[in-house]
Amino acid sequence: MRLRESGDQRRQVPRTDTVLTDARLASASSSLGRETVKEAVAQAQERARRGELSPDAVADAAAESLPRRAAALRPVINATGVVLHTNLGRAPLSDAAVEAVLAAAGHTDVEFDIETGNRTRRGQGAAEALLRAVPAAEAAHVVNNGAAALVLVATALAAGREIVVSRGELVEIGDGFRLPDLLESTGAAIREVGTTNRTTVSDYEAVIGPDTAFILKVHPSNFTMQGFVSSVALEDLAGLGLPVVMDLGSGMLAPDPLLPDEPDASTSLAAGADLVTASGDKLLGGPQSGLLLGRADIVERLRSHPLARALRVDKLTLAALEATVRASMTPTWDALRRSASELHARAEGIRDALRQAGVAADVAETVSVVGGGGAPGVELSSWAVALDADLAAPLRRQDPAVVGRVERDRLLLDLRCVPEDLDDALRSAVVAAATGHPGA
Ligand SMILES: *Cc1c(COP(=O)(O)O)cnc(C)c1O
Repeated sequence: MRLRESGDQRRQVPRTDTVLTDARLASASSSLGRETVKEAVAQAQERARRGELSPDAVADAAAESLPRRAAALRPVINATGVVLHTNLGRAPLSDAAVEAVLAAAGHTDVEFDIETGNRTRRGQGAAEALLRAVPAAEAAHVVNNGAAALVLVATALAAGREIVVSRGELVEIGDGFRLPDLLESTGAAIREVGTTNRTTVSDYEAVIGPDTAFILKVHPSNFTMQGFVSSVALEDLAGLGLPVVMDLGSGMLAPDPLLPDEPDASTSLAAGADLVTASGDKLLGGPQSGLLLGRADIVERLRSHPLARALRVDKLTLAALEATVRASMTPTWDALRRSASELHARAEGIRDALRQAGVAADVAETVSVVGGGGAPGVELSSWAVALDADLAAPLRRQDPAVVGRVERDRLLLDLRCVPEDLDDALRSAVVAAATGHPGA
């Protein structure tokens, strides 16, 4: 009896060709690839053969099991309270930047003058936007990231020569990458001056000579030193008669009262830096990119160096960067500016909704940070929804994934970096994670 039944089942399981005519599966074939879809169909057929699935439901089951998007990168709700989280993609793009990316995704005039039909310099729009935002800069060039900007400067200006840097500024930028190693990989030599905590002008004066290519000043963007410390101001370095390059790290173009200790491009150039380097995806709040701003002759040397071709940025990056620089607000600065009282009210609203759905929840006062991307030591008072720590893993498996932080056996979902329009998605994800069912 059983055997005959399963024999019937087997005969009834629809053939692959038939299942693939389903409209959802046909369209998924073109976006996700035929192999992925066939695999999903084969698995659904196998379940039907085992009797776990009605033969009529094979196409539905295959469609439901398909990946929701063509790239494995999954959207994340950043509830860590770290505004610029490198592992979570640093700065989220603004709506304007996303629109610019979409518009540039096809063929576009990235190196073409629509008026004359001639070739133009790549990335002109982004460079012009940067120069409008930083009038103290004579010229601008964009490369792949902050590290690439430094490598280009070191290679073009100092290969076979010396870069003078204070011992207090030889930083590790993260993931084991150290600035001195990066610079020396270009063939330039690092000439260290001063001590970890104190460096004076005379330390620089004592070592500069014919072999010195430039003086590098690095913003310690991921740590602070307190106590018996001193470093030399840009104004004083500028008086030493050599080019001064300032690695800002964070990419602020102008000062902002919210982060008074964070250096910016305009102030640094006005103080005498000949060139500044920075990241586009830290406090500028744009796409991953490396900015080089400053003296026209230096920028031209960088631009025309062969290595510049290897560090060239993509049209999508240029589009997002230009849109970011033109706009006055970015999601990064929205997150930095959210007031604790606003976050408190939102946390209470989510807590109440969760309790109504039967999920144990509290609110907790907490502290957000800017992140490795800048402003070390700055603490922003914030509010979180506090949950059972066991929810951390199931929440990460939601789509979008929710990443919080576990503190003293509680999972804290810090709302500072969560745009308000994601509160419902956050609440649904928590309900789904707590009940194992899709959220309300
Ligand atoms: C982050 C940082 C870099 C590296 O920039 P990326 O864009 O991450 O490559 C270099 N210098 C400083 C001071 C930084 O903070």
